[in-house]
Amino acid sequence: MAWDFSTEPEFAEQLDWVAEFCRTEVEPLDLVFPGAAYSRDPKAKALADPLKQQVKDRGLWALFLDHDLGGPGFGQLKLALLNEVLGRYRSAPVIFGTAAPDTGNMEMLAAYGTEAQKDRWLKPLMNQEIFSAYSMTEPQGGSDPNLFKTHATRDGDEWIINGEKWFTSAGFHADIIFVMCTNGMFVVPRETPGVKIMEFPAVHNHIRYENVRVPVDHLLGPEDGAKVLAQRRLGGGRIHHAMRTVAQVKLAFDMMCERALSRESHGKVIAEHQMVQEMIADSYAEINMLRLLVLWTAWTIDNTDTRRSRTQIATCKYTCAKVLRDVSYRALHIMGSLGTTDLTPLQAMWAGAPTMAIADGVDEVHKVTVARNVLKGYEPHPGVWPTEYIPAKRDEARKKYADLIAADPDLAAWADLAAKRGHGRVR
Ligand SMILES: Cc1cc2nc3c(=O)[nH]c(=O)nc-3n(C[C@H](O)[C@H](O)[C@H](O)COP(=O)(O)OP(=O)(O)OC[C@H]3O[C@@H](n4cnc5c(N)ncnc54)[C@H](O)[C@@H]3O)c2cc1C
Repeated sequence: MAWDFSTEPEFAEQLDWVAEFCRTEVEPLDLVFPGAAYSRDPKAKALADPLKQQVKDRGLWALFLDHDLGGPGFGQLKLALLNEVLGRYRSAPVIFGTAAPDTGNMEMLAAYGTEAQKDRWLKPLMNQEIFSAYSMTEPQGGSDPNLFKTHATRDGDEWIINGEKWFTSAGFHADIIFVMCTNGMFVVPRETPGVKIMEFPAVHNHIRYENVRVPVDHLLGPEDGAKVLAQRRLGGGRIHHAMRTVAQVKLAFDMMCERALSRESHGKVIAEHQMVQEMIADSYAEINMLRLLVLWTAWTIDNTDTRRSRTQIATCKYTCAKVLRDVSYRALHIMGSLGTTDLTPLQAMWAGAPTMAIADGVDEVHKVTVARNVLKGYEPHPGVWPTEYIPAKRDEARKKYADLIAADPDLAAWADLAAKRGHGRVR
């Protein structure tokens, strides 16, 4: 199948607009009024809403959703190129309607919601009239869904949810929470009696669900379908994180190169020291390997679906954490003492690398997925020798020339000598 690397001129023009818009509008808002893009305060909204409107007017709002799911339907490859810009700026995903955790929750609603559920929750989520959170992880262990205990019991026209969740991002600010129960995925309005949000942690909330009653139509997708819905949700989320990581490491790289050309030490600019050059060269290679991996994965999703791209998505997940860790560390190191402060984005970026290796599933679990899936394409070799054991292969190949070798003593001597000396040139 052909894989085209070119970007259509119309979309390239959109990307140029996005880069300029982020530089001149989004970044200044972030620097002067941090958090304004997320806030419900009327003064903050008066600053952020006109920017969101500009994005809508350009047809770039909620770009992650396919056409059949209610979005503009640009596909993952274009989204990857867009996220390579947006990921540089803290508020850009909100200003463009592509911020987690709402994106994954909208994907679930779009794919599994009834028309009534979409009207009630998907449309206001898309318009950022309401915000959502996702409650899956439990205090006793997050990596293994078989350990989860939160359960819903049917009682007439209602479900009663009991359980405890841990690290529900932005749960405190959400209007609705998607709660993964052992027997289904439920939409729970945060104000429902029995939803108890603990004081700590502050951002990723610890929530107890105590006899929380929701009407039957708050079950999303089929009963017992929570794991399928979760996969759908997390598949998209993981590749989106990887797309934004490309933006982050490019930013780190730009800072690294600028600094390397700007400082002197021991008689030359530091860019002329070979160990600095090695850091630049390694970072350049790793960033581009990650970028191509992400684009290839996005292209595969566009041409198949997230389920059939699972191995690639999992590869993106742990690779982006590693590249973020290594490149941000090198950039921070080249920046010297300044890099250790919070006066540049580098310290936060580096501190974010371990988070990237845990959020949306720990790296180990994704590596297991990749290894298992990749191994399905292989079989053990039949005998004691591996397939590429040269003496055995040569014996087999010799059979092809048996008649020639039998007829020509010169060729026979050549073949015998090759067999004795191994692979090298013998004539
Ligand atoms: C920033 C952030 C945001 C998050 N947001 C949400 C959210 O909105 N909603 C939500 O539900 N959850 C959220 N999470 C939680 C996240 O999904 C879990 O942290 C993750 O699944 C790991 O679970 P755990 O923290 O319980 O770690 P554990 O499962 O206890 O794992 C700890 C360690 O054990 C080892 N380990 C575990 N399993 C294996 C294995 N199979 N093979 C080898 N080693 C293994 C690994 O070293 C791993 O790092 C978020 C996490 C972060 C960091």
